[in-house]
Amino acid sequence: MKPIPFLLAALALVPLHAAEPPPPAKPNIVIIFIDDMGYADIGPYGATKQKTPNLDRMASEGMKLTNFYAAPVCSVSRAQLLTGCYGARVSVPGVFGPGGKNGLNPAEHTIAERLKEHGYATMCIGKWHVGDQPEFLPTRQGFDHYFGIPYSNDMQKKSAATGKPVVPLLRDDQVEELLTDEAQNRIEERYTAEALKFIHTAKDQPFLLYLAHTAVHTPIRPGAAFAGKSNNGRFGDWVEELDWSTGRILDTLRELKLDERTLVIFTSDNGPWLIKGADAGSAAPLRGGKGSTWEGGVRVPTIARWPGKIAPGSVCDAITGTIDLLPTAVALAGGTVPAAPVIDGRDISPLLLGKATQSPREAHYYFHGYNLEAVRQGPWKLAVAPQNETMGKGVLPDASGTAPRLYNLEQEIGENTNLADKHPEIVAKLQTLATNMTAELAGKEPSARRPAGEVAKPQLLYPAAANPPRPKKPKKPATPAP
Ligand code: MG
Repeated sequence: MKPIPFLLAALALVPLHAAEPPPPAKPNIVIIFIDDMGYADIGPYGATKQKTPNLDRMASEGMKLTNFYAAPVCSVSRAQLLTGCYGARVSVPGVFGPGGKNGLNPAEHTIAERLKEHGYATMCIGKWHVGDQPEFLPTRQGFDHYFGIPYSNDMQKKSAATGKPVVPLLRDDQVEELLTDEAQNRIEERYTAEALKFIHTAKDQPFLLYLAHTAVHTPIRPGAAFAGKSNNGRFGDWVEELDWSTGRILDTLRELKLDERTLVIFTSDNGPWLIKGADAGSAAPLRGGKGSTWEGGVRVPTIARWPGKIAPGSVCDAITGTIDLLPTAVALAGGTVPAAPVIDGRDISPLLLGKATQSPREAHYYFHGYNLEAVRQGPWKLAVAPQNETMGKGVLPDASGTAPRLYNLEQEIGENTNLADKHPEIVAKLQTLATNMTAELAGKEPSARRPAGEVAKPQLLYPAAANPPRPKKPKKPATPAP
């Protein structure tokens, strides 16, 4: 008798993993990304004029991330969220306009592409703003479907057909409608309906919903059901509509019993656009607003909710940001992000799940375009360049000069007291970090910047009326030959 072959044959029939528990279900990921919402614009972060009962409840059921960083402006924040990289690394330094030749390089790996590798259904709704040419649209960057205005709602051009200023509303890669300013007051209602429809459609498989709202970027256009209802003018009305929208999404997840399988992140792309007066939000008690690397420009109100996984009413003060969402989502899906191409973000799921309290990142870097303006480590923030308070007409350049300025954000969140003279060793340490990152990504000859996408013949997505001809300048006399 030869028992060994028999034993091997029997073993071959036993599944090797029989004793192991099944792998954890991949959670759905819902990212609700607000435009130009400041640190203090919702109840959990101190807003009192507009009411946000759904977000108040979301925070009480989940976690507030009090040191979550976006970027100073829209396109950069979106590139960061989508790629896990600082905008400077992927050549997205500022804002893309309609019909521009550049966009987020399709060769980059987006959060949607990474999650698709793990079997996720993916949908992008709302403001895209990392390139409007067909090559750059969401459906070419990992999203199964798209519905939204592909850039800022103030980037209107006159329609050739009607002569009215409009923005396009896309379904996948086709223009479905041209929206006048007035028609924008239904945009949030329509985005929300699409979001709920997608959740119903995708409920039986893991899904990624990236809902990048058009609100509360100017022009401020709250829906009819919200206009005039808040105690903070039309800006507050639109925030209340966003609160309603978020409530509808959370209600739907509850109704479909997806609550405990879904991580929902609510956050903003940059601080309030302060020059807009009553149409701007508030970043109090932070200094500065949109377009700035002062805290008010980049630190944004953020809530994470995942019943059964994230402790109710918890607070995370560690440094986190939009660059961390991609590696976090991939980790929760059971994967890892490859070492190359390099990304800047890190998996923050241990922070969300209460298994860690320290940021997984060595430091946070504050880019303004391709300039590195500041670096933060722990409570210390070193500004290494002048920083504007916000952006737009009438904003004066910072007169702080170029000498490094050091702030302790835990002791003084408003960044008024320069402590550089008192802590030269901390200045030196942070200066080294800034110098190294500058060599890598900033300035004119960075060592590790990857190119943006570029098309040869960019076009607007719809026929626009020609601009009136410019008055001709008188011709200069020809330069005489030497
Ligand atoms: Mg924005």
